[in-house]
Amino acid sequence: MNQIRPIVELGDPRLREVAKMVERSLDEAVINIISDMTATLASTCGVGIAAPQIGECYQVIIVSSRPTARYPMAPPMSPIVMINPTFNSTTERREKDWEGCLSIPGIRALVPRYTDIEVNYQDTQSVFKTINFSGFVARVFQHEFDHLHGQVYLDRVESSLDIISENMFQKLYVEKKQL
Ligand SMILES: [Zn+2]
Repeated sequence: MNQIRPIVELGDPRLREVAKMVERSLDEAVINIISDMTATLASTCGVGIAAPQIGECYQVIIVSSRPTARYPMAPPMSPIVMINPTFNSTTERREKDWEGCLSIPGIRALVPRYTDIEVNYQDTQSVFKTINFSGFVARVFQHEFDHLHGQVYLDRVESSLDIISENMFQKLYVEKKQL
């Protein structure tokens, strides 16, 4: 049964661990983690989730860009479950844009990320896949990938002046664009 799990928040040591590689992606335990991640993400306005965010320190993420109240400009896509993902940037170019995190409520910050990346991962059938991402979806991937390595987006913020409250983000960047 899919179960919505509480989101682990910053300060919990599980967000600072390096997640374990998944050895057998067809194991029932892994399948259960993925279905709980899916249910938990669907219950939020997030556009991605990493297993450590539900307290499971395994290398599994879901990238699921879609327009939500948190990210009204996000391009829609079919959610992709990625097991043991790795990536290379296919450009030197990095761009700063706003990020938030379900594990760090109430805050947004400008984070530099590669604009174009090539991702390797295993799907839920254990098949090795390669996919290219750019722009916002590349950003979501890099954010979730960091969660598998004990990092959060605030670690990548270049200046504390690039951090603002969620309320101010909504006022400055969301409400304005919807007018
Ligand atoms: Zn996050």
